[in-house]
Parts: sequence; structure tokens; C-alpha cells
Amino acid sequence: MSEFNLVSVVIPVYNEEASLPELLRRTTAACEKIGTAYEIVLVDDGSRDRSAEMLTAAANEADSKIVAVILNRNYGQHAAVMAGFETARGDLVITLDADLQNPPEEIPRLVITAAEGYDVVGTIRTNRQDSFFRKSASKVINRMVKQATGQDMSDYGCMLRAYRRSIIDAMLQCQERSTFIPILANSFARNTIELPVLHAEREHGESKYDLLKLINLMFDLVTSMTTAPLRLLSFVGGVIAGSGFALAVMLLLLRFALGATWAANGVFTLFALLFIFIGAQFVGMGLLGEYIGRIYTDVRARPRYFIQTVVRQISESSSVEKN
Ligand code: UDP
Ligand code: MG
Repeated sequence: MSEFNLVSVVIPVYNEEASLPELLRRTTAACEKIGTAYEIVLVDDGSRDRSAEMLTAAANEADSKIVAVILNRNYGQHAAVMAGFETARGDLVITLDADLQNPPEEIPRLVITAAEGYDVVGTIRTNRQDSFFRKSASKVINRMVKQATGQDMSDYGCMLRAYRRSIIDAMLQCQERSTFIPILANSFARNTIELPVLHAEREHGESKYDLLKLINLMFDLVTSMTTAPLRLLSFVGGVIAGSGFALAVMLLLLRFALGATWAANGVFTLFALLFIFIGAQFVGMGLLGEYIGRIYTDVRARPRYFIQTVVRQISESSSVEKN
């Protein structure tokens, strides 16, 4: 039915024992509809409930299409998905949440869309069932990401996504420890598209993200795309020093115009000087930040560029060599 020989579905699982039976049933049913070979890679992210045993049992069944990857402890959703990527062998990889908020029934549609030539197929939650706080936080983030990656996607929070093998390989080459997968993928993608999908309420268990984890995720997201916040220091410093200088000039002029009593014997001049120095300190810190930013970029060792395809005519000499 499609160009893909094997489709992998990667699902991170963290304390989801209540959702698992339904998840496995619905995902398998959806995958059967694709019409190509498939595997379902479930990564247990250090669950403290029975999730790991349930996954192991499911993988051990005869003719099981399920691959269970068990991590020793909780590393977080995105790290778990990366572990799944490393294990997945498919030439199209689909990610999905274990909580059934994204319907697995959409998998065939993602495969069909990817086969139309897209590297990354994202999804938009049409009727997002999350709190107002989470929705507005996402909105701000989406706008920032659009600027940083150049790819126009409006819903980065939705993990129901499909990636081609080339994108997965590029992501696996990245050395950084904190990743935000949809953004990382988009930095290697050429053609992307978003499909509207339904979003259900979480039926079993609670969201695995508390406020602290959410803040952590936001930092992962920001640092994974840009070191601009470090540059902010220089900018703020420049503004402070500039206004300090302007204040000094103004005080000097007014002092000559209105006399020494007006100037309160130089008290305000002191403020002006102080601002200039504070500003200079910020600029210094910003300079340090600039170096740190560069060190960070080098340390995470992302591929410098990403070749999508090389088009070349097969020369005769190379075909002779083969014989
Ligand atoms: N998850 C994980 N490790 C974690 C937190 C979450 O593997 O530390 C998984 C979780 O099992 C689920 C997915 O990531 O499959 C999304 O989590 P959740 O539904 O709690 O997030 P939300 O929908 O609230 O964004
Ligand atoms: Mg969820």
C-alpha cells in the first residue's frame, strides 16, 4: 500500500497500567489497517506500577508485534521516546502518548500522509482537553518556536507524529542530553504538514507532568532551539548603561542651567554613575554568556548540516567496478 516496508510506533509509558490494555488493543487494531509490516515499541520509563511487567508479558506472546524497552529509572518522556527511536527499525516512525488522549486510530492517516512525501507529519489538537493554563502556555511557546526553526507548526505539544527514517537518524546523532523531539525533528525536516486530530480527555490516571516537570520541559524546549536568552544579558546591560549615560548628561546640563542646589550636591550624579557600572557588568555577563552559548552548541554536537538526498547520475566506471 505504501513505500514503507516497516512502520514503527513508539510509545513512552510511565505509570500507565490502567491505560495499557486498551492502548495495546486499539494501537494493534489501527496498525493492522496500515497494510504494511509494523512493530509497536513501548518504552517503560521507570514506572513504579505494573506497566513494565505488562509490557514484558505482551512482548513475550507468540508472534507479538510488540517490543518492550524497559529503562532502569524515570528519564522523562522525551528521553524515553529517544530510547524508543534507538530500538525502532521502521522506515517510518510514529510517536504516540500512552494515555489515549491522541487516538491511535489516526495512525493509518499519518502513514498515508507521510507517503505523500512529507518528512514530518504533525497533528493539531482540534478540541484540546487541557486546562486554560496549559493551553495559553503552549500558545506562547508555539509562536517562539516558529521563529526559531522556520517550520510553521502550530501545535508542538501534541506527540502524535510521524517521522521518516532520515529524520530519526539525524536526531539520534545529536549528543545533547535535553531534547524536545518535535522541535529537534523540525530542524532537520524539509517538508512538514499538520493534520487536525481529535483530543480526548485522559481517562485513566493523571497527567504525569506536575508544575516543576512542566517548567523543566519549557526550559528544555527553549534551550533546545536557541541560546538567545544568554544574549538578553548584553541587551539589558546595554539599555541600563545607555540610560545611565543619558541621565548623567541630563544632570550635567541641568546643573549648569539651574545651579548646584538643584543638583542636591551630586546625589543624583551618583545614581547615573551607578547605572552605567551596573549596565557594564551586565554587558560583561552577556559576553560570558556568548561564550557559554557557543560551548553549549559545540558540546551538544548536532550535525552541522543535514543532507536530505544526493542526486547523481550513476557513472559507468562505478558500475564496472561492481562486476
Ligand atoms: N511519560 C513518560 N515519562 C515521564 C512522563 C510522562 O514516559 O516522566 C509519558 C506518559 O506515560 C505518556 C506521555 O509521556 O505516555 C505523556 O504524558 P502525559 O499524558 O502525562 O502528559 P500530558 O498529556 O499531560 O502532556
Ligand atoms: Mg496526556
